[in-house]
Amino acid sequence: MNAQRDYADLVQRGLTLDLTRGKPSPRQLDLSDDMLGLPTSYRTADGADGRNYGGLQGLPELRELFGPLLQVPAGQLVVGGNSSLTMMHDTIVHALLSPLPGAARRWVEEPETTFLCPVPGYDRHFTICERFGIKMVAVPMGADGPDMDVVERLVAADATVKGIWCVPKYSNPSGIVYSDETVRRLAAMPAAAPDFRIFWDNAYAVHHLTGDPAELADVLALAAEHGNPDRVFVYGSTSKVTLAGSGVAFFGSSPANVEWFLANTAKQSIGPDKINQLRHVEFLRDADGVAAHMRRHAELIWPKFELVDRVLTKELGGLARWTSPRGGYFISLEVPHAAEVVARAKAAGIALTPAGATHPYGTDPDDRVIRIAPTYPDLDELEQAITGLAVCVRLVAEERG
Ligand code: PMP
Repeated sequence: MNAQRDYADLVQRGLTLDLTRGKPSPRQLDLSDDMLGLPTSYRTADGADGRNYGGLQGLPELRELFGPLLQVPAGQLVVGGNSSLTMMHDTIVHALLSPLPGAARRWVEEPETTFLCPVPGYDRHFTICERFGIKMVAVPMGADGPDMDVVERLVAADATVKGIWCVPKYSNPSGIVYSDETVRRLAAMPAAAPDFRIFWDNAYAVHHLTGDPAELADVLALAAEHGNPDRVFVYGSTSKVTLAGSGVAFFGSSPANVEWFLANTAKQSIGPDKINQLRHVEFLRDADGVAAHMRRHAELIWPKFELVDRVLTKELGGLARWTSPRGGYFISLEVPHAAEVVARAKAAGIALTPAGATHPYGTDPDDRVIRIAPTYPDLDELEQAITGLAVCVRLVAEERG
């Protein structure tokens, strides 16, 4: 009864709140305002004119700055445009059309191509696979990363398995961090396909929210150590460091893969936006500059994560489970009948990412996971949205018994 009354009150309030996408708030974007007046010079470190064509791999000074943060040697890092998702998408297009180092043939000639998708995961990864007809196989996630017994078995047994999506640090949406043992097993495991690749989307490499930053094992180095030097594609970007629409994106890998990647991108572009790259070097300066900037983000974001945790604890207690990440952009909430909870929230003016989006083909077989993106709304709106969401969880629990 209580929940029904609370829900009726909630609907009455006519809210319009949005917890769908992991966008930085305007105040976070303001932190990078000074960047808009940069660069003060269009000369690159080696004296070239940044306004002109060329420099396909990206400025060495920016690669030196981000190499250590993404655990990729600067010489093996490529700076692209403003989106790492574009680089992931294009890597797959290139692998479809041009054989990867070690491949027997192009992926487009394979009778079937399969990617492992740890779940819950990032919906846009799954959309790329769907677009190209790549079969997706869900693998459960634990507290240390994907279930490695399952991953090892599938990768060793099935030569159609060409890839696995990984968001190894402050994962989207659960916020978990892969343990050293998980990273080692991924780097070392035998693979049936000679061109099997790990898509290591380290989107939240520097996005710590507490004074206790997570450490990630060096997957590129470990893969090389275990005789699989070409296994890993690393991605990252400054979309959630500087400006979400005007950042710089990175691809890193073995020398052979980088050569393959650049040979393909050379057909797409005469060179990247080096003015934006210079702007980033001048603004962020060095690793300390990045860390200081990320602390300013954390000051704005951490209270939002705390608030979600506090409200869920107070309102839901034992009715649901949720993660309490120490970094990144998302919280994963697990409730019974997630789709219905999301529908009830929508009817009350609270927009959530569709239930199932965290799984391949948009289907969560257990109908449990709801992704919460707390960064964009201000604290007051967020409190209303999470309190309202909790009402919907209680309502559905009461109705379904
Ligand atoms: N990967 C993950 C895991 C993300 O969460 C996001 C943003 N939501 C992206 C990639 C997108 O990155 P970019 O802006 O560099 O395309």
